[in-house]
Amino acid sequence: MNRYSAHDKKVKILATLGPAIQSENDVRALVINGANLFRLNFSHGDHQDHAERLNWVRNVEQELGTSLGVLMDLQGPKLRIGSFTDGPIMLVKGQRFYLDLDSTPGDNTRVNLPHPEIIQALEEQMELLLDDGKIRLRVTAKNGTSIRTEVLVGGELSERKGVNVPEAVLNLSPLTTKDRRDLSFGLELGVDWVALSFVQRPEDIIEARKLIQGKACLMSKIEKPSAVEHLDRIVELSDAIMVARGDLGVELPAETIPAIQKQIIQTCRHNGKPVVVATQMLESMRFTPAPTRAEVTDVANAVYEGADAVMLSAETASGAFPTESVSMMSKIIRNIESDPGYQAHLDVNRPVPNATVEDAISCAIRRVSGILDVAVLINFTNSGATGLRAARERPKAPILNLTPNLSTARKLTLAWGIYSVVSPEFAQPIEITPTALDEAKRLNMASPGDRVVITAGIPFDQPGSTNLLRIETVL
Ligand code: PEP
Repeated sequence: MNRYSAHDKKVKILATLGPAIQSENDVRALVINGANLFRLNFSHGDHQDHAERLNWVRNVEQELGTSLGVLMDLQGPKLRIGSFTDGPIMLVKGQRFYLDLDSTPGDNTRVNLPHPEIIQALEEQMELLLDDGKIRLRVTAKNGTSIRTEVLVGGELSERKGVNVPEAVLNLSPLTTKDRRDLSFGLELGVDWVALSFVQRPEDIIEARKLIQGKACLMSKIEKPSAVEHLDRIVELSDAIMVARGDLGVELPAETIPAIQKQIIQTCRHNGKPVVVATQMLESMRFTPAPTRAEVTDVANAVYEGADAVMLSAETASGAFPTESVSMMSKIIRNIESDPGYQAHLDVNRPVPNATVEDAISCAIRRVSGILDVAVLINFTNSGATGLRAARERPKAPILNLTPNLSTARKLTLAWGIYSVVSPEFAQPIEITPTALDEAKRLNMASPGDRVVITAGIPFDQPGSTNLLRIETVL
């Protein structure tokens, strides 16, 4: 029997690994407290760090007998300043500050900006935002290799902080040379998901897919205004979406983000694509063991809106209370999921089923689990597509996915309500019911006397052939 329950909540937790997580024990603590999958952030750390962290996750997965997904988050064309000779500097309102192509470390008069395309695209009077918009500079002059700015809003600035230029159009590929190197390393390691940063257009996804070659699933991060403009097509082309509110809230006015978050979640739910709400969810827990009321409400709202997963960034990667952050997030999720109003919230925005056998069956299991008291919906799947169609319905009962593919099990750790177990290939349809009931009992998802609903596609070896729905009682 598992020492913890991976299926006691439907909304998943994606936890970022970083220097605050120093061992397999630390990873295990995050899993036991509710983390379902992990993000390796390739904007920080080196390949050895990421390989070690992935190894810890795989060991914990095996030890606890639960599927754990790993997402590599490519840095993308994130624009960053260079370093400083003597650590962080202090910029004061009204002072002059230069950004240039000189790669030597900077001081409080200048810093390297290793992006000629920004210098080229910027014009006088345009604004540059540094460190997630905390520092604002206005361009007062430029030449081919540097720009002179006036500090509009000052503050402390440390090395490698991000640069946003919302007013300029930059001609950038979605994958930098570093991303391509990182990607081939990550695919070699066997990551399950690849997150593509700063997606601007649908073509960016097509380009990335060519490089990924089906070795991992693709998550598009929505953090640019142009990605919001092309949202429908980007969702169609991606396997999942991240509402990357950090950069999105710098590129667009912060007050527009809540409505955009709702729009993105709704579009993803309509398409049956998992969606993650990310960034600053429990930000204050980087430094304190308890979140603010507003942060708790932010996580709760993402859950009510129907997100598949919520993400922790610096809270787990570099914060002082990583385990407490995951535990707090789990408590918030479980609380909302036990609110009788939660299902009603989900049902209001329930997407209309397509006229396909899979959707008809998924729709039926939602209805059945609303009419009967169903302990678990058990689904036999190869690719995970049927599981995702069932999750799209946001049924009352949890979904147990039995799959012969480890990669499917790991991929679906992101999806709402799905708990996956790797089972051997099933040769005979006659094995369906006993296998399903045994697994549900073994995982404590059903007890004798409980009703369960079983779905499968016969024959087993034909992908997307879900055509069977059976209601059984556990003996
Ligand atoms: C974000 O901008 O919200 C985000 C998740 O991306 P990153 O952490 O890579 O900045």
